[in-house]
Amino acid sequence: ASAQQAPCIELNDGNRIPSLALGTGRGTAKETDSLDDVRNAVFWALQAGYRHIDTAAVYGDEEQVGQGIADAIAKGIVTRDQVFVTTKLWNDKHARDQVVPALRESLSRLGLDYVDLYLIHFPLATKSDGSPENIDYLETWNGMEEAKYLGLARSIGVSNFNASQIDRIVANSPVRPAVNEIEVNPTLTQEPLVYHCLSLGIAVMSYSPFGFLVSRDRPDAPPPRYDDPTLVALAAKYGKTPGQIVLRYLIDRGLIPIPKSTNPKRIVENINVFDFQLEREEIASISRFNKNTRVIDISDWKDHPYYPHQS
Ligand code: NDP
Repeated sequence: ASAQQAPCIELNDGNRIPSLALGTGRGTAKETDSLDDVRNAVFWALQAGYRHIDTAAVYGDEEQVGQGIADAIAKGIVTRDQVFVTTKLWNDKHARDQVVPALRESLSRLGLDYVDLYLIHFPLATKSDGSPENIDYLETWNGMEEAKYLGLARSIGVSNFNASQIDRIVANSPVRPAVNEIEVNPTLTQEPLVYHCLSLGIAVMSYSPFGFLVSRDRPDAPPPRYDDPTLVALAAKYGKTPGQIVLRYLIDRGLIPIPKSTNPKRIVENINVFDFQLEREEIASISRFNKNTRVIDISDWKDHPYYPHQS
């Protein structure tokens, strides 16, 4: 199959973001990827037509992401300006004056002179040992604005923010987040938060897009699994896999899924979702799996004043 490309969505600052990204965060499923797998995955993804890579300082793989991009540039597969790179500020760098230096360190690991999108990874600040730190994310946002002003990040946004945290930034800053990156999948459909963001012109990136379709080492995980009859029937109808059906479900809801894979076959499979579309009732049938169950559990931080979730 020839390389597919994800169409772009226009952000509220005028920049354009490809509507599907390769995830490079590892360790949310039971896996043994090495960092070199990330370099290869990024290269294979660019070869397969991906134009958006999602990483973060805390993943410890920015260097390998940068190498994968450099490999693809050296082979003439892409130019820098054709690739959209997202990275994130970790929780222990939330003081206003730490933001730009933290981004410069990410850029140096990536081997880039700008990123396309820089996100505050979580609304809550911690010390480097992980214990809570009392820094207001509005202060952090001021540092993000500086990063944009300096041209080190073309767009800025947030991740794991709830609706009232989004509102508080919008009310207190001239620069609106371009993106909120949150968990969305068939068991965590997030309709209210997604609607809230989209109606403010804030694009939504959906992480852990496969939810519990794939093994998360949680025997109590709710359906759907990969062999769920609803997904299998849709897969048969469209000549796709259950994984592709779930990615398309997210795209048809206006979201930007971030499937992670280090497997060359699945990397190609995951972007091969732009030649079909689900019907409204099919989207609803997948949303009915919702259980508000999260893959990413941050309840260790539940007593933090800026803990974003309800439970
Ligand atoms: P995903 O939902 O992307 O699932 C990844 C798992 O699914 C891996 O085990 C992968 O294995 C497997 N897989 C990939 N493609 C397929 C397929 N077509 N069929 C069957 N199995 C498949 O989960 P993640 O939690 O990794 O989330 C994705 C990305 O989102 C992360 O990599 C990261 O970039 C981002 N993220 C952001 C967070 C945030 O706080 N902002 C939090 C969590 C994630 P294999 O590699 O072997 O294919």
